[in-house]
Amino acid sequence: MVELTQVKEMIRTIPDFPKKGILFRDITPLLLDKRKFKFCIDQFAKKTKGKIDYVVSIESRGFIFGSALAYKLGVGFIPIRKEGKLPFHKHSAAYDLEYGQAVIEIHADAIREKSRVIIIDDVLATGGTVEAAIGLVEKSKGIVAGVYFLVELLALGGRKRLKGYPVYSLVSY
Ligand code: AMP
Repeated sequence: MVELTQVKEMIRTIPDFPKKGILFRDITPLLLDKRKFKFCIDQFAKKTKGKIDYVVSIESRGFIFGSALAYKLGVGFIPIRKEGKLPFHKHSAAYDLEYGQAVIEIHADAIREKSRVIIIDDVLATGGTVEAAIGLVEKSKGIVAGVYFLVELLALGGRKRLKGYPVYSLVSY
């Protein structure tokens, strides 16, 4: 049996990446471990109750967990991508980064009205990215049934921006 403490041990902390002062939580060692990677996906699947139509995730590390979870749940997968990458009609949402703004996009015809979706990403930091992703799902008239993360950075308080949504993170710092 894998324990969550063993999952945490496989997340590597890199100081000052990508810039000074950031403690980067690197999930790539975890991905190398087939039992622990599978355990994480299984935990997300166990947490998922009721009918789900799609898993939505955010470029690019979110895709690693999102597509595996969609496969496990037997549902479709919807990518949210950075500006300019999706080829068809799309909805866009801008959000604030530490310096400046970023834009993410979803295909406007991806989500059927009232579909229930899970949004998943690797790390919850300030919550700005996932808040924008929720906005895109809701603009597409989807229902956000859960918001999942592998890692939650508690000091940055991202969860406060996600009030009213079921938020689940596997490990926290
Ligand atoms: P935020 O919008 O602040 O919640 O940032 C979330 C996004 O930035 C996620 O997609 C993460 O992949 C990435 N991210 C932010 N902070 C970190 C960190 N300390 N370590 C790894 N990834 C991070």
